[in-house]
Amino acid sequence: MQIIRTANEMTSVLKKHTHIGFVPTMGCLHNGHLSLLNHSIAYNEITVCSIFVNPAQFNDKSDFEKYPNTIESDIQKLSTLHCDFLFLPSVAEIYPSTDTPHFYELGDLASKWEGAFRPGHFQGVCKVMDRLLNIIPADDLWMGQKDFQQCLVVQKLLDITHRKTIHFHMVRTIRNESGLALSSRNERLSEKGKLNAEALYKCLNSIKQEYHDQDFDYLQNNAVTYLLNHGFDKIEYLAIIQQEPEIVVATAAWIEGVRLIDNINFH
Ligand code: AMP
Repeated sequence: MQIIRTANEMTSVLKKHTHIGFVPTMGCLHNGHLSLLNHSIAYNEITVCSIFVNPAQFNDKSDFEKYPNTIESDIQKLSTLHCDFLFLPSVAEIYPSTDTPHFYELGDLASKWEGAFRPGHFQGVCKVMDRLLNIIPADDLWMGQKDFQQCLVVQKLLDITHRKTIHFHMVRTIRNESGLALSSRNERLSEKGKLNAEALYKCLNSIKQEYHDQDFDYLQNNAVTYLLNHGFDKIEYLAIIQQEPEIVVATAAWIEGVRLIDNINFH
């Protein structure tokens, strides 16, 4: 695997290639990331993984500062998978000082659910994705359903920036044996916190099972009580998101000072 740190070099080496699969990440790679990479490696001729902890998408400064960095083991994992390129840029490489600010017209997609609790977050996601896609001429973009609303936002970005040739693939969420969605942020939980956090997936499943027979407000209240009784401190939202052809039940909740998100398909 070749590690590339500058935008110019990344663009120039990819000129020789076609059928490029791209997996953007913020590192601290786990089996969820590796699943995206395996899809790309199986489907594309060339796979590029990027690791860049994007300051523009953190509305909470301390979340950014605490974001885990495991670059040595990440490189090891990527090499074992035979990923072709790791793009590992600095902040200055992604956001040169000559950069002019741009506002992405995302409509109410940016202000609902995640957007309501993380102001500016999706603008930051679009900013980095726009820049990365200018550097990496991807044919296929692989992203995780774990961040369902992010998938919707990036699909919208592809649309409004007229990148019609990029195929977007949403890959299902990888979980541990108890159902907890894998996340780099789980690393900040104690063992007890990790066990308690399993309640999130259980809640989503029970809402899915009972939705047709019960009032949603009632299910929502039960779920919030259940989570608060299982070590969660705060539930930001618990909502049905309908975005054809997908319908999911999605949530964001805080446990041990860590914000977790999850969603499951609703059919
Ligand atoms: P991140 O490093 O958190 O920015 O995530 C990079 C990509 O991995 C995003 O497209 C995420 O949706 C995806 N991802 C994160 N966790 C999981 C998971 N548990 N299963 C599948 N994909 C995931």
